[in-house]
Amino acid sequence: MRLTVKRLLPACLLTAASIAGLQHPAAATAGSAVLGQAAAPAHVARQQARAAKVPTVVLTFDDGTADHLAVAGMLSRRGLKGTFYVNSGRLGKRGFLSVAALRAIAKEGHEIGGHTLQHPHLPEMFDAAQQTEICDDRRALLKMGFAVRSFAYPFGASDESSKRIAMSCGYNSARDINGLYRPDSCSACPVTETIPPADLAAVRVTSQTRLPRTARTLREFVTRAQREGGPGMVTFVFHEIKDEPGDKYATAPKEFAAFIDWVARQRKAKKIDVRTLGDLVGGGVSPVP
Ligand SMILES: [Zn+2]
Repeated sequence: MRLTVKRLLPACLLTAASIAGLQHPAAATAGSAVLGQAAAPAHVARQQARAAKVPTVVLTFDDGTADHLAVAGMLSRRGLKGTFYVNSGRLGKRGFLSVAALRAIAKEGHEIGGHTLQHPHLPEMFDAAQQTEICDDRRALLKMGFAVRSFAYPFGASDESSKRIAMSCGYNSARDINGLYRPDSCSACPVTETIPPADLAAVRVTSQTRLPRTARTLREFVTRAQREGGPGMVTFVFHEIKDEPGDKYATAPKEFAAFIDWVARQRKAKKIDVRTLGDLVGGGVSPVP
């Protein structure tokens, strides 16, 4: 099937910014992100100027597990938008989202991001294999009609090759799974990531792996940012939202609901902003070179 711009960008995701970005390959973004000193692309400067004066909360969900369809609904009912990073090679498999379910999530205005074909540990792979995992995944998601601008490293594992390859596949950002403050192992780390992120190929987040994920502990990451971090982004990484206390990645639905209730109230009171990672970083949907 011939791909048109319209097909690549579902109506719900067709924004002026993304159209403008089509003439704005992410190659420029990648260059500045990797080298760290080239002039920031125009859209990055614009995002900086528009950054809220309060912390911006970004809710991200990894792995495309089947529960994420209901999770997207929970967010939508509260007027919140999330970023869902999926592995295209797992869509439709047992326990994972179907393509139709993923389309329903995108239709609600949530962002769909790439997370490789099969969730490998990238730094253990040769460059060519990494390229297949990252670029072919993005190509597949674009073909399905998703406006894919954001990437997350499986296991948060990256090296210089994976960072370079992620940006060369046309992604505007690549997300880590730590780098910001956490009480047990990173108490001296910054409380918020800068807007735009200091390194677009390694966007830092608040890691909660192995920490108790109650509404109270999750709120604490945001209130700390409000107290100490000022403007900047506080990005959460969620996996499955399910009742399974033994699963160190899972978050209980009751705690998650209480947390996003609070997030929605804070946003209404203008004490935080809530955005998708792709919108916060800005830039359009580049083709895979
Ligand atoms: Zn993952």
